[in-house]
Amino acid sequence: MSKTSQPIPSFQHSNIPSLAEISTGDAAVPRLELMEWSQRYGVVAGITTRPLSLGLWSDEPVGQVIGRWRAFRAAFGARFPVTVLAHQVHGTDVRWHEALPDGWLILDGVDGHATNERGMLLTVTVADCIPVYLTVPQKGAIALIHAGWRGTADGILEQCVELLKWRGFAKASDIVMHCGVGICGKCYEVGSEVAVRFGLSGTVQLDLRAILTQQAKALGIGEVTVSPWCSAEERDRFYSHRASRGRDGRMVAYLGRALG
Ligand SMILES: [Zn+2]
Repeated sequence: MSKTSQPIPSFQHSNIPSLAEISTGDAAVPRLELMEWSQRYGVVAGITTRPLSLGLWSDEPVGQVIGRWRAFRAAFGARFPVTVLAHQVHGTDVRWHEALPDGWLILDGVDGHATNERGMLLTVTVADCIPVYLTVPQKGAIALIHAGWRGTADGILEQCVELLKWRGFAKASDIVMHCGVGICGKCYEVGSEVAVRFGLSGTVQLDLRAILTQQAKALGIGEVTVSPWCSAEERDRFYSHRASRGRDGRMVAYLGRALG
């Protein structure tokens, strides 16, 4: 599918440059990818779409979900012998990964991953929460985090940037960041107990990608773009925890540098 045949994306924010993920892949593993990132930075960055549900910690039969993960992994083939995933807890733990043996690494209680190894596909599962992709083109370091309201309020982005500085020898200004497919502010009304965490009061429409962009600027990140897609509005393409009242599956966001 070409870019022009897609429906008009709904997320609009006047101050943040938009960068759209484009349809790619095949029927077995449908997905959207940041083609511009692969051309400019040599990384593979994207997200799977319906009907491929990849929520491992769901009520679905495990065998079926694992079968879909195998198809996902096969779609990237020999370019990515290592796949990293975790049971996420809306926390702020971001792990740095050194070289790993071929196969799967499955962690517990981790909401972000970073590495400068090639051949390692970092993944997070999402359905409204924002997958945040970071790359440091000069250093070859990459990171992918899962940012819902809790992780965003608790500073997972800052944790990730610190890790890229420490282990990836990056300067904040060298980091390029993209806030991927997730729920937009218009669709994400939250109560005062959440609003207060962001210095707001009462019931508000929380725009997580705008907040993450603000945080990125405060941390000194050089360049930030935002996906135009809203997971809660494009229900035929994305899963949405909010719009499905918790019944939907999960998409997998992924980021990696293929083996040379
Ligand atoms: Zn929306």
